[in-house]
Amino acid sequence: MDLSIVIPLFNEDESLPELCAWIEKVMHANNYSYEIILVDDGSTDESWNVVEQLRSVNANIKGIKFQRNYGKSAALNEGFKAAQGDVIITMDADMQDSPDEIPELRKMIIEDGFDIVSGWKKKRYDNTLTKNIPSKLFNAAARQSSGIKLHDFNCGLKAYKKKVVKSIEVYGEMHRYIPVLAKWAGFRKIGEKVVEHRARKYGVTKFGWERFVNGFLDLFSITFVGKFGKRPMHFFGLWGTLAFLFGLTVFVYLTISKFFLDKTGMTQRPLFFFAILAMIIGVQLFLAGFIGELIARNSSERNSYLIEEKVGL
Ligand code: UDP
Ligand code: MG
Repeated sequence: MDLSIVIPLFNEDESLPELCAWIEKVMHANNYSYEIILVDDGSTDESWNVVEQLRSVNANIKGIKFQRNYGKSAALNEGFKAAQGDVIITMDADMQDSPDEIPELRKMIIEDGFDIVSGWKKKRYDNTLTKNIPSKLFNAAARQSSGIKLHDFNCGLKAYKKKVVKSIEVYGEMHRYIPVLAKWAGFRKIGEKVVEHRARKYGVTKFGWERFVNGFLDLFSITFVGKFGKRPMHFFGLWGTLAFLFGLTVFVYLTISKFFLDKTGMTQRPLFFFAILAMIIGVQLFLAGFIGELIARNSSERNSYLIEEKVGL
């Protein structure tokens, strides 16, 4: 199969027929063998009926329905598990992404050898104040911390090599950082293509202002998990030891000072409490590191490495 098109959707019944018809047109024009995987993320409108109806006239259309709304990441993850195509395309259901971009995206994966190609909505048709400006900040932070030079991490339109989607797990709200997840999994060829962006035709956006708070918090976690997820002690142990040693040094100084230098009582000096605090924090960080190590050791993913090739075995 050439292509799997994975579409997460939450209350998008109005756009689905039009979107699928457009995708089918592009598929036929290029003679692709394909599947469209519609993942209904617990819609409360007619979306699932529409999916079943679309399926009844085109067997290339497949559907998955969640019991309730779990979020875009879960929907993508489930779609990735089901996908069979050599190249997987993800796009939003709201017709903001154009299916006409698919052939070029596929070409970049198959011919140019990219692991991931991410869309870049260079010219956006969203509200400037609530979306475009925060999104610039957000992308700059993501570029800084991940070292991946993308302009638009969160673009819904992306293309993947099959191997990539089968080796990452998208959870929580990590759909914003799939290129980062892929990079940590060892996929380095991450490309970008300017894509056409359109105004939302039907329905309303499903993400409010919380997206920015959550987006930044997730950026911290993903950076931390990527770096220290499998060796927490290297983070907590380092800072714990430094804090403890710092406190201890101050303490020793205060002791010497009390008996041999100016002879003021230790507890009369603010520095004393500072030293105690540093030592307590140091010990706590160290213990957090130990607990982290215990958890990492018990995790089923403690040995999840990917073998790219083997010879003679
Ligand atoms: N979506 C989803 N589950 C959710 C929220 C959104 O599957 O909980 C889907 C939604 O139906 C759409 C895509 O994710 O296909 C992007 O959402 P939206 O267009 O609301 O985001 P925006 O374009 O405003 O960033
Ligand atoms: Mg949208």
